[in-house]
This record gives sequence, structure tokens and C-alpha cells, in this order.
Amino acid sequence: MNCDPACGAKLQEACGVCGGFAADQPLAFLNCFSLYALQHRGQESAGIAAGPGNGRKLWLKKGMGLVSDVFPDSADLKGIVCKLAIGHVRYSYGQEGRAPENTQPLKLRYRHGELAVVHNGHLLNSAELREELECQGAIFQTDTDSELLAHMVARQGSSCLADALAAVVPRLKGAFAFIVSDGHKVIGLRDGYGFRPLSIASLDGGGYFLASETCAFDTIGASFIRDMEPGEMVILDENGLHSRRLVDSPCHKLCVFEYIYFARPDSNLKGINVHLVRRELGRQLAREHPVKADIVSGVPDSSIAAASGFAEEAGLPYEMGLVKNRYIGRTFIKPTQKMREEGVDIKLNAVKKIVEGKSVVLVDDSIVRGTTSVKLIKIMRRAGAREVHLRISSPPVKGSCFYGIDIPDAHELIAYNRPADEIPALIEADSIGYLSMEKTVKAIGLSADQLCRACFTGHYPVLPG
Ligand code: SF4
Repeated sequence: MNCDPACGAKLQEACGVCGGFAADQPLAFLNCFSLYALQHRGQESAGIAAGPGNGRKLWLKKGMGLVSDVFPDSADLKGIVCKLAIGHVRYSYGQEGRAPENTQPLKLRYRHGELAVVHNGHLLNSAELREELECQGAIFQTDTDSELLAHMVARQGSSCLADALAAVVPRLKGAFAFIVSDGHKVIGLRDGYGFRPLSIASLDGGGYFLASETCAFDTIGASFIRDMEPGEMVILDENGLHSRRLVDSPCHKLCVFEYIYFARPDSNLKGINVHLVRRELGRQLAREHPVKADIVSGVPDSSIAAASGFAEEAGLPYEMGLVKNRYIGRTFIKPTQKMREEGVDIKLNAVKKIVEGKSVVLVDDSIVRGTTSVKLIKIMRRAGAREVHLRISSPPVKGSCFYGIDIPDAHELIAYNRPADEIPALIEADSIGYLSMEKTVKAIGLSADQLCRACFTGHYPVLPG
């Protein structure tokens, strides 16, 4: 997976959240470890809010950068006396969203005490709701949906956070996985379609934990219980775990890109392992778009599994044709135009001895604008590849996302209004093959109507306005 924000050519996930309640656990410390596991979901900022569980003041630390930048010595967090904590890693939309004030958890004071909120997703009616509140005198300090939720909660008369949220959530439209705390409890919320994932685990020694992905549970030794249902509210407090249904779930629409690209390979979504799905995507791709070639290579890291599945099915050797430099800082100096034109890239390089003189099947998980593909093919050719056949383990991306994923406007997408057979000439590939939607869904093993596939199909489950 190319998680480099400086690249801008691949899709970007929009945040990871976690949080838990336990009487006798170093919860701030556990949140920090979970955030390390969720780091691929956002690298712009990280933060944790923690409290003793009796409503007293919440401790908060957050900042710009990776988890390791914000919490350079995570062992310090063991000393924080707390029964509850919530955490966040962020990837934001656009330049404005990157402002430091948008880091989360967002902590605010209201008449019943303090509130801390973290969010993954995107509310479609946030502009209308903001305007309504601003007309009533609300002053917003950030661009986040977390602050919007906090304002709406504060306007409810109830001192019970769960009741206030139950009144607010039916007014929210779009994709959300919120975790909220008032210092007494930790509450998870998932929208009625379940676009963004959120799962529940039990902690060894008592207590419960929520996280965007199950890989976070493995990291802290928690035991997966189940995924939160779309439209469900889960309350963690002194009395354990309680659940309430807040909105009807018209249908489940988990983002299909979680399987294709976003989620970590060791995570399970709806009980299905992400790595195994990716390998099966590769196998299906080899059946749909076979090609005579010498070797198969994958684009590191998220396409390796699909490439190995392709190689297995095609009976071709899998080779490490591309190597990724994992130590490039987020502010690296980009190559000059001349270097780019010559196929020089500081982040990826081809293994010349492997690809020289060969016909290579290069497997990638998706194409967005096509700029990354152009670069990858140049790198392969510069290393001496005789032919480069690009195989994509998902269908062509033809539309934007309204549910929290940073996909460019449709007209910037290489597959928008363009037949697949025109694309090889644009990216200088010898051939291209996209996996069909039918086989993508088959590889995942869920029925098509359980998945959001809108950026591929143009059928959006819910639209802005
Ligand atoms: S539109 Fe695409 S990226 Fe957005 S939630 Fe749906 S499948 Fe995922």
C-alpha cells in the first residue's frame, strides 16, 4: 500500500479510531499501541484522550505527525491513571483539513462536563447542520464532524450522553464511525449503512475495546467479539457493554475498498481475512485476464498478495520486481522533472537483475489518476523489462467518494468516460486488465448488496443534499 501523503496519486483512507473502558488496564498505553496498528489509516496526526472514569478532567495529548512523533516514549503512558481512553489517527481532505486545530480527539467543555470525540467518515449534511447551529449562535473552532457532533450533543437537555447521542444520530446523514467519551463512559456509533468499519473486543482481565480494524486487537492482546452493527450504539462503562439500535439499517454497505486496499492484511472484516481476499482477487484476475509472460510482480505493499494469487493461478513465477524504500520521510524532496521523466523514483525501484529482458505482469490494486501507473511502468522499462502488462485487482474507479475516502473528482480519474482499451497507450503499458465487479465481489465472498461499490458503479447508496 502506498500510504505516502506526498504522492497524492493513490487513494487515501480517512482516519482510524479506537477506545476502551476497563477498571484495571493501562488504557492510554493500550490506545497508543492500537494507534500504531491503525497507522496506515492516517499519518497526519495522532492523539489520545484518557480519564479516570468518574467524569473528572480528561487528559489529552495530540499533535501532527505519526504516532511515534506524538508519543515518542509510549511507556510514559503506563503512568496515566485511567479507566477509559479514546484515540485517533488522521488523514484529512484538502489543505484546510490539515490544520493543527483539526487534530483529534477533540475535547470540549459543555454544561455536563467534558466531551472527547474521534471520527472516521464523512457527514453529507454537515454544511446544513453547521449553518443551523451557527444561526443559533454556535462558534466552530475546527472543520471536523467531531465538533459538529459535540455541539449537537451539548444542545440536548439530557445529562446522559447515550440519550443525547440517541437524539442526535438520526439527524446525521452519511458515513461515520464515532467514538465519544464524557469521562464516565466510552460510546461507539456506526452509521446505518456501516460504510466504515468498527469492531468490538474484550480485554484480558476485564473491560472492552473498540477499534476500526481487528489488527488493533491483536496488537494489545484483546479478543475479538464481533463487528458493530450498522446503526448501532455500543456503550462501555463500569457495568460492562450495552448496545442500543439508534437508526434502522436499510442495508449494509461496507466500503469494498477496505478489502481491496485500505485495511491491513491481518485484519478481518465481517469475519473475512483481508489478505486472503486479496490473494483470491489475484487468482480471479489471472483467470479473467491471462497473459503470456515470464514473471509476475506486485506493487508493494498492498498488491503483493494479489500478485502472488495471480502467479499461483497463472503458473508463473512470482518475483520481487519492485522494492519499496520504507524510510522516506513525509517531507522528502521530490525528484526533478528530468529524473521523473527518466523513471527515477526515491520510493520505489525495480530489481534490474529480475526484470531485465523479461515480459512482466505487474499487479496493482487500483488506478486512480494513472500517474502512479505511468511512473511504475517507466521504472520497469528503465530496468530493462521487455514488456509490462498491468493487471488491476479491482474494477476501474469512475467516480468520487462521499463517504470519507479522498478520491479526486471524476474528471481527474483515468477511467472516467474512457474505455479500458484506451488506457495502455496513456500509461505506456503493453496491455491492461481490470478485474470485473462480479469477480471482485466473488473473491470477497459477500453478496454484492452488502458492499458499497459506488465509486466503481456510480450507484451511491445515499447522496449529499
Ligand atoms: S464510494 Fe468507493 S471508496 Fe467510497 S465508500 Fe463506497 S466503495 Fe468505498
